[in-house]
Amino acid sequence: PRLANQIAAGEVVERPASVLKELVENSLDAGATQIDIELDQAGIKRLQVRDNGRGISEADLPLALARHATSKITTLDDLEGVASLGFRGEALASISSVSRLELTSATASKAQGWRVVAEGREMQARVSPAPHPQGTTLVVRDLFFNTPARRKFLRTERTELNHLEETFRRLALSRHDVGFTLQHQDKYLYRLPALAASEGLDAPPLAARLGQLLGREFLSQSLQLDQQASGIRLWGWVGLPVYARAQADRQYFFVNGRAVRDKLVAHAVRQAYKDVLYSGRHPVFVLYLELDPRVVDVNVHPTKHEVRFRDGRWVHDFIFSSLHKRLSGALI
Ligand code: ADP
Ligand code: MG
Repeated sequence: PRLANQIAAGEVVERPASVLKELVENSLDAGATQIDIELDQAGIKRLQVRDNGRGISEADLPLALARHATSKITTLDDLEGVASLGFRGEALASISSVSRLELTSATASKAQGWRVVAEGREMQARVSPAPHPQGTTLVVRDLFFNTPARRKFLRTERTELNHLEETFRRLALSRHDVGFTLQHQDKYLYRLPALAASEGLDAPPLAARLGQLLGREFLSQSLQLDQQASGIRLWGWVGLPVYARAQADRQYFFVNGRAVRDKLVAHAVRQAYKDVLYSGRHPVFVLYLELDPRVVDVNVHPTKHEVRFRDGRWVHDFIFSSLHKRLSGALI
């Protein structure tokens, strides 16, 4: 099973950024409202994620590291409307097979915390008491220490840190109601307070978050958008031409709260921009599409960047016309 885990790890764990994504998604699934991340050497030496979520009980701790052990799905019916980000029970098993992993958790604020450690192939999941506030801390050390071939695939620290920051940006943009911090070598790169549910699109913490993640001028150089039709809504910010970039990075699209990189979506957005103003340069945008979860399948692939819409044409046309209307109204 260890070997199977290491093979599976190739699919889920490509680099530190993929570890970060899996751990933070677990924290979000656990209902965390604060997630604090610490990195050493771009997460290769140490990648730590601490949350204040539900926590894991002593009895469930070793299970969390077992393959295909998920607490998120109990029946096949659950698969249909799966709302959690993970449900395959592969991530922790895969990560622990290629690193030195330490998992500490407590289920209630006054409960005793427990810790389990696993090290590469020698998976000795021994559970021992360890103090911890309610929530969970995952520490992943020495990523790929026992799979040198994979380790060789890692790029420079700078590049891996860029990937980590990109993953962080996407996660932090997906949940404004969750506070996030990111430290690298004991230095804060981001401190993003949570946005209260009652606060709207103009709230200072939201502006601060967008400013930290996308550049201080982003808000003043973009248009706010909120278009609705029956059963579908598109809202967010689209960057003005002066804010366009040479590369198609800084384009964030979320479908029902999940980051998506999808051909149909990309095409609709590109067409709308192209029609109005763009020539060669790439717009910056942060857009949220919300629609009935039953007409979209977001779990097409384990890394889940693609979606399948029941009526792709309808979604495409809605995105296109919403953006087109907003852009041409403002700029022509
Ligand atoms: P999946 O997310 O697909 O269920 P994972 O391997 O990512 O599988 O996690 C295995 C299990 O460990 C989860 O189903 C969950 O029960 C538990 N778990 C992992 N991380 C956390 C966390 N931060 N807080 C609470 N439970 C967690
Ligand atoms: Mg998971």
